[in-house]
Amino acid sequence: MNVLVFVETSEGKPRKTSLEAVAYAHLMGGAVTAIVLGGADANALQSIGKYGATKVLHADDPKLNEPVIQVYAEVLTKAMQDENADILVMAGSSLGTPVAAKISIKIGASFASNVVELPNTTAGFNVKRSIYTGKAFALVEMKKNKKVIAIKKNAAELKEVGTDVQVVNYPVSLKASDFNTKIISTEKATGDILLPEAEIVVSGGRGMKGPEHWGILENLAKALHAATGCSKPVSDMGWRPHHEHVGQTGVKVAPQLYIAIGISGAIQHLAGVNSSKCIVVINKDPDAPFFKAADYGIVGDAFEVLPKLTAAVLAAK
Ligand SMILES: Cc1cc2nc3c(=O)[nH]c(=O)nc-3n(C[C@H](O)[C@H](O)[C@H](O)COP(=O)(O)OP(=O)(O)OC[C@H]3O[C@@H](n4cnc5c(N)ncnc54)[C@H](O)[C@@H]3O)c2cc1C
Repeated sequence: MNVLVFVETSEGKPRKTSLEAVAYAHLMGGAVTAIVLGGADANALQSIGKYGATKVLHADDPKLNEPVIQVYAEVLTKAMQDENADILVMAGSSLGTPVAAKISIKIGASFASNVVELPNTTAGFNVKRSIYTGKAFALVEMKKNKKVIAIKKNAAELKEVGTDVQVVNYPVSLKASDFNTKIISTEKATGDILLPEAEIVVSGGRGMKGPEHWGILENLAKALHAATGCSKPVSDMGWRPHHEHVGQTGVKVAPQLYIAIGISGAIQHLAGVNSSKCIVVINKDPDAPFFKAADYGIVGDAFEVLPKLTAAVLAAK
């Protein structure tokens, strides 16, 4: 079984969720080839071998620096053919999932997104998918010979199993007419840690009372090396940038630890956080719905609790 893994990059380095896709493919067994599209850091690409890829293809064409779904789907479809790959694996993302769907249609493959576990191949090829924004699971049989799998964050543990590998140039020939859309500008999310990939998220809601109070929340995030998030009204009011909005209509996070401060716990917010390993809620209202979804809860005023919590984290370090 040959498995191709599409590895997305951020500032030239493989994304953590894509490395999880490599680890996932390795655990499936078979030969794992990774492919990176667009400019990337050569040393960082070699290190993809540590997570189980035996070969890394690099399509280093500047035209691929801006991800256009149709073009990425063309290149990856060709790479699947060239590598004689039966299965394509990638991290589910705003880029990966539509690319995966498009490739599946092109090659008539079985497609599964939001996959949370390794396939069960004892009878057929069955995968477990997270559905209804994480509230339920579906077991799906992938019947076609060719399969395209988009995994959810944390579907495979990121463990070093190999060593650096050689990166092989993968030439592509692209014409201007291949591009049906053009990216005019890109607005980068601020912050050191990308919210969808963060291991710890510290998130604030309307209970924080205003943007001028975010410093105490950011202090805790800094102490924990966490990304910051917020509820929808907070970003709607312009207290925080839109890319921090967590929930059904925002970013879906799956960190090890999600700390919700002054957020009531509306169903639309929970839809974006219910894959978190551990949820801590800080709210002054003991009846706030979020406490029902919490592993740990602190009933108290955020303005009193946050400085104490940050001091305790720093002291523990
Ligand atoms: C179609 C649709 C989609 C939506 N999508 C999303 C989404 O993706 N994400 C999202 O977040 N929302 C979404 N919403 C909005 C959602 O329904 C809620 O209105 C929203 O999540 C509430 O935000 P909040 O908890 O920050 O504010 P509030 O509901 O006002 O809650 C504030 C909380 O802060 C607590 N509090 C107040 N003062 C303090 C203090 N000093 N210390 C500690 N706690 C305090 C209060 O007890 C309260 O629980 C959506 C709504 C709709 C209709």
